[in-house]
Amino acid sequence: MQLHCYMASKDYYSILGVNKSASDDEIKKAYRQMAKKYHPDLNQGNPEAAEKLKEVNEAYEVLSDSTKRSNYDNYGDPNGMAGGFGGGSGFSSGGFGGFEDIFSNIFSGFGGFGGGSRRNSNSPMQGADIQVRVNLSFEEAAFGCKKSINLTRTEACSACNSTGAKNGTAYSTCSRCRGSGQVTNSQNTPFGQMVSQSVCPECHGTGKKITEKCSKCNGDGYTRNNRNIEINIPGGVNNDTILTLRGQGEAGRNGGPSGDVQLLIKVSNHKVLKRDNYDVLEDVYVSFTEALLGKKVEIAGINEKLVITIPPLTQTGTIITVRGKGTKILNRSGYGDLFAKIIVEMPKSLTKSQKDLVEQLDSSIDQNQYTKKKGFISKI
Ligand SMILES: [Zn+2]
Ligand SMILES: [Zn+2]
Repeated sequence: MQLHCYMASKDYYSILGVNKSASDDEIKKAYRQMAKKYHPDLNQGNPEAAEKLKEVNEAYEVLSDSTKRSNYDNYGDPNGMAGGFGGGSGFSSGGFGGFEDIFSNIFSGFGGFGGGSRRNSNSPMQGADIQVRVNLSFEEAAFGCKKSINLTRTEACSACNSTGAKNGTAYSTCSRCRGSGQVTNSQNTPFGQMVSQSVCPECHGTGKKITEKCSKCNGDGYTRNNRNIEINIPGGVNNDTILTLRGQGEAGRNGGPSGDVQLLIKVSNHKVLKRDNYDVLEDVYVSFTEALLGKKVEIAGINEKLVITIPPLTQTGTIITVRGKGTKILNRSGYGDLFAKIIVEMPKSLTKSQKDLVEQLDSSIDQNQYTKKKGFISKI
């Protein structure tokens, strides 16, 4: 699926050089001619031609699709009155047998259709990135840890300095392309003779011919190696944090830089604690009598038990903050906080004598001692 932004002001008919009543065959024929005229292989270093080709493609995409064409004719917009961005089916094949089909038929053997930029296998290319998933415990993610990861990557062959030639010296200049890495082809097509350049098949674009292969990499210049890498995971990483190890990925080609290793962090859940960025949250259950009378209680810290003081008359939902007992703050000094949410629990049942005691307590409490309840009743 491809999204195109259509410019309502463009005249697709004049771009293809046909009139409004042109038949499907005439449009197809006009498109072939225009596409040939502006093809990147025949217009190297001509940015105007690339622009023109884009316009031609766009015009053909619309006029070759009967629905889009009719919308364009009626509303000036291939997507109909809705206008704006077309979410259409990209290269649709409205009875023509496909935009890409036609293109590849015309230009097959010409090194493909890549918007004008030819891939030159001589030019430096950056190596690919490698993704590695790293599983951490809650504690490891909070405070950081050392981990060893295992990966297999392509590395430049050290024996031949990635030339593929024995000792890095056993090669000569390619005789077919004289070292340029490119050869010129001419081909007869229904449109006449076309000339293009392509990568030298003899040396595959390197311009060099190896006379004796490096035995370590068998002439490839690169070897696949399995590596254990020691890494320091900084404290404060969280689920789905991505850490990048620059230059530790696949080797680049032709002197290009290596790719990166991306570590995707996955953190296990804690039985009690939850992360909120660098803070941790915890539900702490206390009995209603503890909440009434106040008490010191033990709660979970990340790597330790902590003791907090529940003051007398603590309401349910009260949050008690323990400063500096969260996780390490990623890439900075300091730590987050721990927030203990107090939840007051009622007993599941009462004996007769307990009930009597509570009733005694209840009758002794003045209703004015409950401020929220009083406010609530006054609002009803
Ligand atoms: Zn080698
Ligand atoms: Zn060559």
